[in-house]
Amino acid sequence: MSKGTIQVHTENIFPIIKKFLYSDHEIFLRELVSNAVDASQKLKALSSMAEFDGELGDLTIEILLDKEARTITLRDRGIGMTADEVEKYITQIAFSGAEEFVQHYKDKSEAQLIGHFGLGFYSSFMVSSKVEIVTLSYKQDAKGVRWECDGSPEYIIEEFEKEGRGTDVILHIAEDANEFLEEARIKGLLKKYCKFLPVEIKFGTEIINNTQPAWTKKPSLLSENDYRLFYRELYPMADDPLFHIHLNVDYPFNLTGILYFPKFKNNFEQNRDRIQLYSNQVFVTDSVENIVPDFLMLMKGVIDSPDIPLNVSRSYLQSDASVKKISSHISKKVAEKLEELFKADRTDFEKKWDDVKVFIQYGMLSDEKFYERAKSFCLLKTTGDKCYTLDEFAELVKPNQTDRHGKVIYLYTPDAVQQHSYVAAANERGYEVLYMDSPVDAHFIGLLEQKLTDTTFARVDADILDKLIDKEEVTASMLSKEQEGALKSMLEKMTDKEQFTVVFESLQPKEAPLLITRDEFSRRMKEMSAMGGMQFMGEMKDRYNLVVNANHPLVSKVLLEPDSAKQHELLKQSLDLAMLSQNLLKGEALTHFIQRSLQMIN
Ligand code: ADP
Repeated sequence: MSKGTIQVHTENIFPIIKKFLYSDHEIFLRELVSNAVDASQKLKALSSMAEFDGELGDLTIEILLDKEARTITLRDRGIGMTADEVEKYITQIAFSGAEEFVQHYKDKSEAQLIGHFGLGFYSSFMVSSKVEIVTLSYKQDAKGVRWECDGSPEYIIEEFEKEGRGTDVILHIAEDANEFLEEARIKGLLKKYCKFLPVEIKFGTEIINNTQPAWTKKPSLLSENDYRLFYRELYPMADDPLFHIHLNVDYPFNLTGILYFPKFKNNFEQNRDRIQLYSNQVFVTDSVENIVPDFLMLMKGVIDSPDIPLNVSRSYLQSDASVKKISSHISKKVAEKLEELFKADRTDFEKKWDDVKVFIQYGMLSDEKFYERAKSFCLLKTTGDKCYTLDEFAELVKPNQTDRHGKVIYLYTPDAVQQHSYVAAANERGYEVLYMDSPVDAHFIGLLEQKLTDTTFARVDADILDKLIDKEEVTASMLSKEQEGALKSMLEKMTDKEQFTVVFESLQPKEAPLLITRDEFSRRMKEMSAMGGMQFMGEMKDRYNLVVNANHPLVSKVLLEPDSAKQHELLKQSLDLAMLSQNLLKGEALTHFIQRSLQMIN
């Protein structure tokens, strides 16, 4: 037996490691299992290159928990280490990584994670009062070795009789890490980090992992059902996905993975099933915010890249060049896949449109390149349930919906049921009305207005139709000033001045006598600021125009009515009907309207 002292320049390295890594100390298990996997795979590689001609045998890695003895043993049948290698890899190299880490972070409060500093093995000291390694190298005539260290710079190394090839790492769990002596805790961690490791991991009698997850296989070997089953494996509780993208890149970086489109509908809060990031089948994280573009976060699935640095902090990942390339590459692949689906089966794509719409719009809004790629398959849906691409729709409405200033007007509604009367009036003139009900539509409309030349959007209730698509000057009111003044003052008494402005127009007699419209610009401002959390605008009352159709017979009737009580009743009834069609008649006003209507029937 010989004793040695690890060459440290910083005294008491372990208390510092412990302190900094406190919140993440569960990752010791991942680090040690990864080392065991590496050792097993190295042996396989040596064997396939005929550098090792012994029996590979069963390479299953075992995790043994002994609560009585307070130990966790990680047992592999990999390449093992000779005494020289233990000295070199464990005492010198690994330790220097640990020291570098401490040097770097002893004065800082931010905890950079450890693998970045090649500190994997030493993470075991976060949970152990003592660590033993018992190992036998695959090399011919190698002798077994035992190494032991209690976290001080002193360690012991000695020759040791070991039966089979490979390495046992024995952790003597510290008093303050008792949680790791619980079977359920260890099993949970193995399921979290090791679920897809490439070498079988056994805990108790159970094999924890699927060594060949779908993303590591060739797409040509997988059926639709295989993809669906793998999705289940990732997210046992989720509904079936809509479709998937199998990523497989080897230049300029390595990346594999499968991304799925869930059914988005209009809800954004499905974020508990998140994209999982792996590095060589080792789970890294599922908090991918700011690593992949926001809109891609709506997808699910797995990304695996050895270029994704293990164990580094979020801010480090974000600024990492390969991570940036990865996310722009994914965005491109996603657009290509969508285009392919669109071209291959348009009917099916249209059926899925409502489910992917928010995703695509969000992508077009947040990523210029994605906009350029998506504009050929982004669809607009009309209240008649027909889907058009941007180009198709422009062609369709240009002849009939271009105004005298050369602007093409796209009419839309967020709710075709509630705004039925407006939609019907538009359809009667042969105008198409787009259905725009997604939570990002307000922003999306703004984007399209920027991108499409000479195109403006107007909600169907934004003004009288002949003004929205104004082909010829709308004739001003034919009423006399006195008549207008009389009607105006009566109507103003019936409505809230802060909300309603009375205007007069000469419309067709068949149009409604009174119409309520809501100016596009101010409504949008209000909606945008409400979304952006601007209280001031958000709290302002909604503003409407109360349009009087000067040509309607009812208006003349009101003006000619000699009995002022009756006159008032007639006008009030027309006003309430207009309010009703905008869903503005509520509470007491609605009750009065119903009572008055009943009296009139009687
Ligand atoms: P890293 O894995 O990043 O190289 P570690 O500190 O985890 O850093 O391990 C240091 C080295 O110790 C490894 O590179 C490997 O050579 C050796 N090693 C660790 N665990 C094992 C093991 N189970 N079998 C064989 N060698 C091992």
